[in-house]
Amino acid sequence: MRILGVRVDEYDMRESLEQIEAFLAAGHNNDGLLRQVVTINPEGVWLARQDAALAAIVEQAALVTPDGNGILWAARRLGHPLRERVTGIDLLDEICARAAAKGWRIYLLGAQPGVAEAAAKTLCSRYPGLQIVGCENGYFRGRESAVVAAVAAARADVLFAALGMPFQEKWLYQNREALGCRLAVGVGGSFDVLAGAVRRAPALWQRLKLEWLWRLLAEPKRWRRALVIPKYMAAVRREAAAQRAGAQKNG
Ligand code: UDP
Repeated sequence: MRILGVRVDEYDMRESLEQIEAFLAAGHNNDGLLRQVVTINPEGVWLARQDAALAAIVEQAALVTPDGNGILWAARRLGHPLRERVTGIDLLDEICARAAAKGWRIYLLGAQPGVAEAAAKTLCSRYPGLQIVGCENGYFRGRESAVVAAVAAARADVLFAALGMPFQEKWLYQNREALGCRLAVGVGGSFDVLAGAVRRAPALWQRLKLEWLWRLLAEPKRWRRALVIPKYMAAVRREAAAQRAGAQKNG
């Protein structure tokens, strides 16, 4: 389906994981390149709407999952109710659970120095046998080609890039030939949560759909980004109204 013209796939977590398993079983895509997974939230939709390069990357991605209640809300308004959120951090966790059983090799790229290593420790204790074949921080300006070469040398199957949107999507796309892995997933601030540097909203806040407010209170510098949410909601309401008007005219 589309939200404000931006692609979002109508998959729940189970279906997303089935897709990912099928991608990994098939190897590289038809062009011999990695497959890219985008976990898109309302801020991402807003960015893609204004950034043609990002929109094109979302369009060609192997999978675009609904990351956030704001996506589910919009999908419902637009007549395509989705079953559940498929967030970057939950997808990362579920992929690692399967990776431990299936032997997929994992690389963690992103966040401040030391955070990816701490996230790797958490994941390895959660999933014994998990092979994390490399970690690298996300502040690599000036040594970018060395980072790409290190990922390729590690022969990872799955690369998780926690560099923030849209940088991670653009970077993965630009380097899709050289990275050598089969699948790459943009996971935003997930390593910070896994490393314990940032606490995820408690379950009650998540159930009350207030995870966004928790993040805003924890990191007040995010308020500027939160300002796009009312604009996003107004644009979705307009799109839903236009859709209804079009349906009435045609019916
Ligand atoms: N980050 C990075 N390199 C950069 C900019 C950001 O590795 O050049 C990391 C940052 O440390 C944080 C993550 O990217 O861990 C971005 O998290 P945020 O929650 O802002 O991303 P979102 O989930 O909103 O895409």
